[in-house]
Amino acid sequence: MPTFDELFAANKRYAQTFAHGDLPSPPRRRLAILTCMDARLHPEQFLGLETGDAHIIRNAGGRASQDAIRSLVISQRLLGTNAVLVIHHTDCGMCTFRNEDLAARIRADLGVDASEWDFLPFTDLEASVREDVEILRHSPLIPRDIAISGAIYDVRTGLLRKVV
Ligand code: ZN
Repeated sequence: MPTFDELFAANKRYAQTFAHGDLPSPPRRRLAILTCMDARLHPEQFLGLETGDAHIIRNAGGRASQDAIRSLVISQRLLGTNAVLVIHHTDCGMCTFRNEDLAARIRADLGVDASEWDFLPFTDLEASVREDVEILRHSPLIPRDIAISGAIYDVRTGLLRKVV
C-alpha cells in the first residue's frame, strides 16, 4: 500500500513538467462519462481523451445514482456538457453481492444496521447499462436534447462495446 508520503512525492515529480495550467474549466469535448470506480479502468486512456476534454464521474458500478445525477446536472447546466456515455464493465464487483449480503457484512464488521441501504448491485451487465441510460433519459433534471449512450468495457481486451 502506498503511503500518503509516496503520493505527495509522486505529485511533486508530476508538477515539475505540468503544462495544463491554462485549461478552461468547461470540458472541451462537452462530454461527461459515467463509469465504475474499478481500478482497472482508465477512461481517459481507453477513450482517447486528454486532460480538459470531459467530466469523468465515477462511483461503484457507474450507476445513475442520485449523486451521479447531481454531478451531471452541474456538468450540463453550469459547465456546458451535452452528451453522457454510461460505461459499465465486465468482471464488475457490483455483480458479486446482493444488498442483504453487504448489509450482513456491515452488521458483522461494524455493528451497524444498513438494511435500508440500496448499494445498487446488479446481476445482468447489459441490463444495468440499459437501466441507467433509461434513468438518465427519464430524469426531469436532464433535458431531452442531451445525447445519452451506454456501453460495456471489457477488462480483458480493453474493448468498448456499444449497448444503447
Ligand atoms: Zn465495477
